[in-house]
Amino acid sequence: MNHIIISVKDLHKKYESFHAVKGISFEVYEGEIFGLLGPNGAGKSTTLEIIETLRNKTSGTVIVDGLNIDTNPSAIKQKIGVQLQTSGYYPGLNLIELINLFAGLYNEKTDAMALLKQVNLQDKAKAKFKELSGGQKQRFSIATTLINKPKVIFLDEPTTGLDPQARRNLWQLIKDIQSTGTTIIITTHYMDEAEILCNRVAIIDNGKIIAIDTPDKLIDNLVESGFEKPKEVKKANLEDVFINLTGHSIREV
Ligand code: ADP
Ligand code: MG
Repeated sequence: MNHIIISVKDLHKKYESFHAVKGISFEVYEGEIFGLLGPNGAGKSTTLEIIETLRNKTSGTVIVDGLNIDTNPSAIKQKIGVQLQTSGYYPGLNLIELINLFAGLYNEKTDAMALLKQVNLQDKAKAKFKELSGGQKQRFSIATTLINKPKVIFLDEPTTGLDPQARRNLWQLIKDIQSTGTTIIITTHYMDEAEILCNRVAIIDNGKIIAIDTPDKLIDNLVESGFEKPKEVKKANLEDVFINLTGHSIREV
């Protein structure tokens, strides 16, 4: 039996007269990587931020690890890992100092160097955030979600704008975090990424969930419905060519 760690029921969000989230319901199982997929403006970030207790909902029920967001928002905050706004990264502080600062805010004792090592940034411990490459910035941001040893972390488009190597490197990091038992909710625009990373995905369009299942099952359903790709698929694509020529190692160290 899958243990349900997050339950969302009939969630609505209105921004004044604009109905951004129109009654969505889904459950996230403990230990899985759950993907929220959908075009820009679909309501992904709104949904995440409501579960993260960072945004008010209009109506609906959200339960995180047995706690209701209406009655226990601060207890939920302690159980979840949230990516902080980069505006909170004081420009004068290096990575170690930033982690120690955030740990202080969480009232947590943390081994900042061990955390940087976990995201492969130990060599950048004394660097400032602005001196990092795009992939390194994302890895640091993910490290900050782990400070309070959360049961669930939320990653909103962590790989947008990264090059193929940095993207793959981040996939590995996300899988490593999952292997420690942490549940991960992620949004992405990259379907290859969702297919590789996510145990299950929900596809949101226009504030509504239009499909929810494992990537495999969703693909099988489409094929069973008689769908055929318009042209024969080659055994590799241009991204494979690029990775094959330039290698898997990251260039940003
Ligand atoms: P996604 O993350 O899927 O791109 P969002 O949740 O950010 O979508 O936004 C969903 C819709 O709600 C969009 O049409 C967006 O313009 C609107 N929206 C988001 N935040 C606000 C806000 N603070 N005020 C008004 N409208 C908003
Ligand atoms: Mg968004």
